Amino acid sequence: MSSPPQGHAPISDELARRYWEAVVVHGDDPATDMCVHCRRSRCPEWAYAVEQLILADLLDR
Ligand SMILES: [Zn+2]
Repeated sequence: MSSPPQGHAPISDELARRYWEAVVVHGDDPATDMCVHCRRSRCPEWAYAVEQLILADLLDR
């Protein structure tokens, strides 16, 4: 008996597009080291989007 491979779940193109958008919008400003949108370093929106892209194998750590 073998179980199906697990690890990353594929996400739809639409979802991936929204995560990429969040990564760009909530990326740290190199000058201040903070999200330009929320004014927080590595804000939750950014962290979540990055995590989802990594899980989907679309982004390297
Ligand atoms: Zn943010």
